[in-house]
Amino acid sequence: MTQPSPPSPPAPYIGRFAPSPTGPLHWGSVLAAFGSWLHARHHGGRWLVRIEDLDPPRERPGAAAAQLATLARLGLHADGEILFQSRRNALYRRALDTLLDTGLAFACRCSRTDLAASDGIHRACVAVPDDALRTRSFRLRVPEAVVGFDDPVHGRFEQHLRRDVGDVVLRRADGLWAYQLAVVVDDAAQGITHVVRGADLLDSTPRQIALQHALRVATPAYLHLPLWRDAEGRKLSKSEGAEAIDGQPPEAVLRRCWLSLGQPLEAWPEWQGAEATVAAAAAAFDPARIPRERPVSA
Ligand code: GLU
Repeated sequence: MTQPSPPSPPAPYIGRFAPSPTGPLHWGSVLAAFGSWLHARHHGGRWLVRIEDLDPPRERPGAAAAQLATLARLGLHADGEILFQSRRNALYRRALDTLLDTGLAFACRCSRTDLAASDGIHRACVAVPDDALRTRSFRLRVPEAVVGFDDPVHGRFEQHLRRDVGDVVLRRADGLWAYQLAVVVDDAAQGITHVVRGADLLDSTPRQIALQHALRVATPAYLHLPLWRDAEGRKLSKSEGAEAIDGQPPEAVLRRCWLSLGQPLEAWPEWQGAEATVAAAAAAFDPARIPRERPVSA
């Protein structure tokens, strides 16, 4: 009789924060930074920082350095080298080649105007296939299936990819790598086990899971934090509320994020400098309290 194999040890927790350097960190991104840091530390995990600098036209010079300086001021230090996506071209190329070889990705000459009749959703190429004058993008052929996941805060979240999203752009016609490809390749390459980020990305998660399946890489656990809205209930843009952060004492910023994560004020530790305070906060943090919507009182 063969012995049952011992249960495999749980994967070590590796979390991350992945800002795009389009400006200073705003309230929503600081909430994602502190929320992902707390979640990782609370579970005894590591926390990595990755700069998603793949879209030069949208980036601001010096923004990445300013974002890292803000994190340092808040006592949030990465456990390892900071990764810059702009230096990882070869990895994205390899992933795209694999998908092309396996027939899961394809070159596409469709323009937005071509797709207008299908609400901008790509389900099949409609451009003349041999119109060599058109530059090509590359897309993932999405499955005819519902793809979903269980979010501890938002519950079951599902999308019918083919019907509602369409074939996902992996490399744009202007030659830039798409966020969806780079984020999946890097989360896999960095061994990320838990993605904790803003709810504005809930919508992207099913397509990232489809891409993970196509690339045969593991799917991390996903948790989406409440959105930071302005007084009128609109999502904060990068420019709004950003300057406000660097002008405020770190304690005020961290405490406001703590309350926004549904944590009680009584559990907020006494100020002992940024590093010691966030460490004490991680011990008191209760992920089960994270709300779907940011409390209005925070
Ligand atoms: N770079 C993305 C952003 O700043 C976040 C990516 C992610 O967390 O998956 O919105």
